[in-house]
Amino acid sequence: MVRGAAKAIAQERNAKKHSGKDKKSEIGAGAKALKVTCPMCKLQLINHHQLKDHYASKHPKETCPPAESFQ
Ligand SMILES: [Zn+2]
Repeated sequence: MVRGAAKAIAQERNAKKHSGKDKKSEIGAGAKALKVTCPMCKLQLINHHQLKDHYASKHPKETCPPAESFQ
């Protein structure tokens, strides 16, 4: 019983190790994606394309800043 439990714990630890690794790579991939905050209303957008759409609908009189200004 004790042996079986120890094995289960070891497996759980291993799974955690692996999921942690996956999480790290996910964060790495997520960091690559451009995160954009609207300078006009501080709304957070996933990427510059969304910001363009946001500007077109919410701030049509303003010019959308270039993607380079958010890097
Ligand atoms: Zn805005």
